[in-house]
Formats: sequence, structure tokens, C-alpha cells
Amino acid sequence: MRIRVDEIPESGRFVHFHWDESRLKQFLPSDDPSDLKLSRPVNVDLEIQKHPDHIRILGIIRGVLQLSCHRCLEPFEYPLEENVDVFLMAEERAPDAEETELDVEEMDVEFFDGEVIDIDNLVAEQIFLALPFKVLCSEDCLGLCQRCGANLNEGPCGCEMNQRDTPFARLKSIRRQLPE
Ligand SMILES: [Zn+2]
Ligand SMILES: [Zn+2]
Repeated sequence: MRIRVDEIPESGRFVHFHWDESRLKQFLPSDDPSDLKLSRPVNVDLEIQKHPDHIRILGIIRGVLQLSCHRCLEPFEYPLEENVDVFLMAEERAPDAEETELDVEEMDVEFFDGEVIDIDNLVAEQIFLALPFKVLCSEDCLGLCQRCGANLNEGPCGCEMNQRDTPFARLKSIRRQLPE
């Protein structure tokens, strides 16, 4: 979705739409390794405010993402609820600390051509910002067995047990402790 600034009334404009996975895919590189999917379409509710020297976009983006756990590689759902508060400024009016009353350091300021607002791009950015730093199905995910590749969240695979607890392994460790 793209919105022309001159088509936004002075009183602002509300936009509400759903964003499905095909739209998200347009913003992911074709060889994207993150395996990011949408469990259901993202709900986008935004208010576009027109100010003399900037556009402010406020609202919320809600949905459920589907991610793949970095440890066990299983897909899991991740709730998305991202508050949006973005200031868009025309490129040629890049703020000069003395000229603007806006506290640029504190805000999410982006630049655009001053004519067309690319709402889809903004939604994609907000989704990427919402992604967790550690992509784990759970903090205590046990991951995969280094030897056989089994998902250890589903139970022990047997490798550890074979190593430590067989009579033969015990015998070996006893031998190691005996003087030569
Ligand atoms: Zn996991
Ligand atoms: Zn194993």
C-alpha cells in the first residue's frame, strides 16, 4: 500500500488492512534463512497525521509470526504486537537540531521523498524490529543431540546414556582411576 501525501486530508487518515504472507515475502530475500512465516494475516491499524514539516504514523500491528527455533529447528508461534510511532520527514528537510522542535534522538525518524508513503515497507520494517534477538521456542529448549540429531525436547535420545551408564563405560572409567 502506498499513500500520496497530497491525498491525506489535513485532519489525517486512518488505515486498516490485513497483511498476508505473500506481502511479507516481497520483503525477504529469496534465500532468506530466517524461515519467517505468518501464522495468520497481520492486522494493521494506523493513523496517519499530517503536520507542517512531517508525517507521523501511529498505531499498532498485531498478528502471529511463525519462526524456526535456532536450537531445535522446530517451527513455533510468536505473538506480534508492535506499537508504531514513526515520524516521516521529507529528505530535503533533514532536521537540523536548531530548526526542529522534534527531539530526533528519541524518536523513530525516517526519511522519504515527501510525496508517497510506502506503508508496506513500514509494516515490514516494524515486523523485522519485533523479531526476538534469540529465536528460541523456549528459553530452556534442549536443542538437537550433537551425535544423532534427535530433538532432545521430545525425550532423551539414548546417546548420553550409552556413553555414561553402560557397564562397559563404567568399567573404562574405573580403569582410568586405577594406578597403572
Ligand atoms: Zn527449540
Ligand atoms: Zn543422540
